[in-house]
Amino acid sequence: MANVNVVNVAKRHQFKWYEKWYFYSVIVGLGITIKHFFKTAFLGKAVTIEFPEKKRAYSSRFRGLHSLKRDELGRERCTACFCCMWICPADAIYIEADEVKPENQHLHPEDKYAKRFDIDLLRCIFCGLCEEACPKGAIYLDGNGELAADNREDLILTKERMMEKYGGPIIGRRN
Ligand code: SF4
Ligand code: SF4
Repeated sequence: MANVNVVNVAKRHQFKWYEKWYFYSVIVGLGITIKHFFKTAFLGKAVTIEFPEKKRAYSSRFRGLHSLKRDELGRERCTACFCCMWICPADAIYIEADEVKPENQHLHPEDKYAKRFDIDLLRCIFCGLCEEACPKGAIYLDGNGELAADNREDLILTKERMMEKYGGPIIGRRN
């Protein structure tokens, strides 16, 4: 019969007598707290920052809030093709399409545009698939990551909130 190495898990996780003593863990925890207090107060080695007054720089690969882009003429890029909506694994995107009319100068010259474009941030998992699937380079996850809100409505990104302003940056950072 093959020689099998048996690990005695119960033995490996046996606690010393003092580790079973309730106050041992309290004292160890207090020690860590006091160590960080002195490092922060007297040595200037705080691991936290005073948010929101101070903010950390985001990585170039960070996926933040979604934005909808305009082309070089300032027209909305989205053609309401629904690719992002169908590929979204969290079912977080809702689009209503409408016909582009000749008087809609702010739109691209194709057939459809997104009359309504909502993203439910409570469903979104920030996978970035909508950005990858978009054939028009219309949607990017290049916003910040500040998602705190005290009601559900503020966590629904509407087209108006996502659409790039006229005169803003024309293309996304990964375009
Ligand atoms: S990032 Fe992912 S989960 Fe969020 S809206 Fe885009 S496809 Fe959906
Ligand atoms: S954002 Fe892109 S993928 Fe989504 S509907 Fe508009 S054009 Fe299509």
